[in-house]
Amino acid sequence: MKEKFADIIVDISHEKVDRAFQYRIPDKLAEELEIGMCVQVPFGKGNKLIKGYVVGLSEVCNYDPQKIKEIRALVQKGVGVEDRQMALAAWIRKNYGGTLIQALKTVLPVKQTVKGKEYKTVVLKAGREEAIALLGESKRMKGRAARVRLLEELLQEEELPYDLVTGKLMVSPAVIQGLARTGVVKVESTDIYRNPVKKMDSKDEKMKLSPQQESIVTQICGEYDAGMRKTYLLHGVTGSGKTEVYIRLIEEVVKRGKQAIVLIPEIALTYQTLKRFYKHFGERVSVLNSTLSQGEKYDQCQRAKQGEIDVIIGPRSALFTPFPNLGLIVMDEEHEGSYKSENTPKYHAREVAVTLAERTGSVLVLGSATPSLEAYYRAQNGEYGIFKMKERVAGGTLPTVYTEDLREELKQGNRTIFSRRLQELLADRLEKGQQSMLFINRRGLAGFVSCRACGEVIKCPHCDVSLSEHRGGRLICHYCGYERAMVSKCPSCGSKYVSGFKAGTQQIEEKLLQMYPGIRVLRMDADTTKNKGSYEKILEAFGNGEADVLVGTQMIVKGHDFPNVTLVGVLAADMSLSVGDYRAAERTFQLITQAAGRAGRGEQPGEVVIQTYQPEHYAIIHAANQDYEAFYEEELAYRDLMQYPPVVHMMAVQVYAAVEEEGLRVAKELAKEAEKLGKNNQGFPLQIIGPAPAGIGKINDIYRFVFYVKHPAYELLVETKDCLEAYLHARDTRRLNIQFDFNPINGL
Ligand code: ADP
Ligand code: ZN
Ligand code: ZN
Repeated sequence: MKEKFADIIVDISHEKVDRAFQYRIPDKLAEELEIGMCVQVPFGKGNKLIKGYVVGLSEVCNYDPQKIKEIRALVQKGVGVEDRQMALAAWIRKNYGGTLIQALKTVLPVKQTVKGKEYKTVVLKAGREEAIALLGESKRMKGRAARVRLLEELLQEEELPYDLVTGKLMVSPAVIQGLARTGVVKVESTDIYRNPVKKMDSKDEKMKLSPQQESIVTQICGEYDAGMRKTYLLHGVTGSGKTEVYIRLIEEVVKRGKQAIVLIPEIALTYQTLKRFYKHFGERVSVLNSTLSQGEKYDQCQRAKQGEIDVIIGPRSALFTPFPNLGLIVMDEEHEGSYKSENTPKYHAREVAVTLAERTGSVLVLGSATPSLEAYYRAQNGEYGIFKMKERVAGGTLPTVYTEDLREELKQGNRTIFSRRLQELLADRLEKGQQSMLFINRRGLAGFVSCRACGEVIKCPHCDVSLSEHRGGRLICHYCGYERAMVSKCPSCGSKYVSGFKAGTQQIEEKLLQMYPGIRVLRMDADTTKNKGSYEKILEAFGNGEADVLVGTQMIVKGHDFPNVTLVGVLAADMSLSVGDYRAAERTFQLITQAAGRAGRGEQPGEVVIQTYQPEHYAIIHAANQDYEAFYEEELAYRDLMQYPPVVHMMAVQVYAAVEEEGLRVAKELAKEAEKLGKNNQGFPLQIIGPAPAGIGKINDIYRFVFYVKHPAYELLVETKDCLEAYLHARDTRRLNIQFDFNPINGL
């Protein structure tokens, strides 16, 4: 029997987006009506006809059947921005799971009234001479200190933020008013969106593109004008001029009356980068970031919709900016994990960008120095166009890289966390007054066990990923659930030095202070960056030369240029190499390559020390040689052998339960169900792995289990997801929560 009732959302950009109204489906529409379609419905007391979107279908009427209203008509597939957003939400729900409401909330900025926030400034109106005279006069008078402070500041900077004046400068509004009355200053107010940097005269700012940059821009524009719509991958080392290419492409697209979305990981949205975009696009560019309130984000979207801006820059969520005529999507640092949403729907911005580009007739440009296996694989298959930019445009040499074998250090009696080479180079830098960065690529799941004498890591015999140490001394594989007792001796060399790997930024800092008395150390990790603005403050202090060494987690390797840094130490490359998931090698390669790129950005050449127990590991060797292609070849062979993405697709099914036994039982049931489905599907059985307890098996008293389903065809995984959802729906699962994660980025 066909469904007779439809749940309809009537205003999709409102905060009450989760309030759906039920309507009867007229017979004439029964066949064609689908979730996501736009319909016309009578609404309210006057039965005014308005547009609504179908978000659910059912056979049951939840309302008085006598009073329920009927859908009037199907609105012809519109081309409006809202229809497109709605369709995109439906696509996201289908491909990543979760509810349509969750998908809508992802795609649509929620309407919230923002108080008309004003941005006020105090501007010097009097001439300089007059101001100087007044300053002198005020200085001679008693009780004019505030006026003196203000005039002194205004003589340096003719326009000052009002808040700064009344706040930090401690000048009362009365004093400002007094000066305003005599025409010395004026209080001006603009809306909050005024950009901090005025558009520069492009004549003198524009640099000449290198022949390679020129040819990339010409080719992409040529293909665009010839009606081709493609995805391109710019594989270019840091400093090779990718950002300049993006800027020129945006200019070309804007010339053609289109708009552009630029995705940049939040952490790389630096003042320097933004200034470059402001210089080119002035008031026509806007930035989305996490410090904006919901209301402010909504307003940015309104501006985009109304054609007030051409370019938006922001993290993942900027993808959903409702431009009426999108022409280009740029995704810088395409390999970044932050492009994957951690909340349901767990979408990947790259995949959504591909779909969005297709639907809007836009071009997608991905950029990275260390492309994700996914992107490079598709470029190799001819799905994406690819450009390689191997040299830094502004010159500069690549650093010298040393790989230090920590097993050897132990053998030589060095029990510290610093290899002898690193100690020596650190001392040298201290003497020369140059700066160093020490980096520990610690990740949440580094519970692996290894031998400090021979480097052997205890791995799962089935999955070739490291086992993780759990409570009670068990070693567990987070993919298949394989379990064994903790080892007391190394299975390879018999040494007793087997243990979990533990080292933190704080220990490193303490060690440095001990070994180099008087050394100035700054530390950047989750602890020291808790407060708003602390991240920037640490970077600024380091940039100003207030410390000799910056110690930190992967946060410190992103994007920032410190010309005085000539030494970078990767203290324990193994930390990320042996995390129990299949992306461990890829992540390690990326992190080391990025970290190495931090050394020698200025005049002085740089050196990099990579410390590891596994110097023979291909991720380490190729990162030390800065050889992406060689790494890709070996990594792909491993993914192929073990059947991991991108060679196949992999769906993680996560079961969250308050009662451990129940969680495990349901996970097993679901896995069995998936297996049945797989068998019915002739030819290509689904591969099921697990269930196993998740890496962090229990959070806030909720137990977590996970199993994996693998198959080369993504659609089959989507089908499996739908079937599992339906299976659960038919049962009492109120005490459980199930989530799906397609091609997961982070271990669970
Ligand atoms: P990437 O985005 O690949 O790191 P950028 O576009 O930021 O590279 O360029 C690196 C540096 O080189 C920047 O300081 C930039 O201003 C400069 N640059 C880029 N293109 C050119 C060019 N054609 N001529 C001179 N300098 C350039
Ligand atoms: Zn050993
Ligand atoms: Zn396993």
